[in-house]
Amino acid sequence: MMSTCPFRVGTGYDIHRLVPGRPLVLGGVTIPYELGLLGHSDADALAHAVTDALLGALALGDIGTHFPDTDPRWANANSLVLLGHTMALVMAQGFEVVNVDASILAERPKLAPYLAAMRERLAEVLQVAPTTVSVKAKTNEGLDAVGRRAAISVHAVVLLCRSAQRLPLSPDQHREA
Ligand code: MG
Repeated sequence: MMSTCPFRVGTGYDIHRLVPGRPLVLGGVTIPYELGLLGHSDADALAHAVTDALLGALALGDIGTHFPDTDPRWANANSLVLLGHTMALVMAQGFEVVNVDASILAERPKLAPYLAAMRERLAEVLQVAPTTVSVKAKTNEGLDAVGRRAAISVHAVVLLCRSAQRLPLSPDQHREA
């Protein structure tokens, strides 16, 4: 029986290694730093955690099943494009985003100057106002891989609400669904 409750909640987590010779991209914003995140795509751990939270809210699997890192289509991909594909799936299921809350764990660099831009980029893709997208940043107090500046990790929570109408997927999105 389908629940009459209009809400679904999902969580997402991601971690990527920090290495030389890669750009540091978080929430679609490129941040000047001597290290960047290693990955098949642009390794945007914030976009990935939010993508996994959206998929988790609707029990649609995870980012690895939808966008496998063996698929050359996603090599060096802009992860906001992956997030956009996922948002289309959410809307096709008849849901919209109520709010997002994310925490980035990074010892360096200082991310405060870039958080507003990250919120704007994410909100645009999620088709909500930036006031409903929270992005926070903190250090790991020098502990573990994040504290050694060997990695950056992200936790995200998203709340979805059933919307008035289902938006159909494009033929291209159907193939990926
Ligand atoms: Mg990832």
